[in-house]
Amino acid sequence: MDKDHPLDEYLEKRDFSETPEPEGEGEGKKASGDSQGEPFFVIQKHDASSLHYDFRLEGGVGGVEDGTLKSWAVPKGFSTDPSEKRLALSTEDHPLEYAEFEGVIPEDEYGGGTVLVWDAGLYRNLKTDDDGNAVPLPDQISDGHLTVWLQGEKITGGYALTRTGGNGDERWLLVKMDDAEADARRNPVSTEPDSVLTGRSLEEVREEEAEGAEG
Ligand code: MN
Repeated sequence: MDKDHPLDEYLEKRDFSETPEPEGEGEGKKASGDSQGEPFFVIQKHDASSLHYDFRLEGGVGGVEDGTLKSWAVPKGFSTDPSEKRLALSTEDHPLEYAEFEGVIPEDEYGGGTVLVWDAGLYRNLKTDDDGNAVPLPDQISDGHLTVWLQGEKITGGYALTRTGGNGDERWLLVKMDDAEADARRNPVSTEPDSVLTGRSLEEVREEEAEGAEG
């Protein structure tokens, strides 16, 4: 029997004749031509039945992509305060092309609502093995604990994700690590609400999509 493709769940949940979300190019698709570069992350603000922030990390390690974005939904979004624990629910792998998606998903489609790119940048794994080599992201995920350095425009520094239950439990906790980028006084979720890609608010994405549909 064929091994399930990591994007099967993503593809099964969506009707691509209805949703503007990317269908993805499938296995091995590279987001950039730079195979030596660091992998990227994105945080998408998603005003669905309830507002949340989708945190996505390019799979693989050190630029060796496996064609997917590992994903969590964070209801309250990122904090820069190390004393704040934020619930993060693991969700299905998304195609790499999803990282640049902004738009409106029809209400009757899975995840219906407005999406904008709230922050994006490169990341690196902080966890290393005994030889000092970075532990690949999939191994960190199956360990139930991962630490990454995020280099975004709003979010920078180390973050830890820890699974609260056993293997397969969807509940994780996202915590800012106590490093030089930690800052309990910032609250970027409320002070910097708009798209880092286009500068648009959720309302502006909705308005422009509605105009596009009419035109
Ligand atoms: Mn979402």
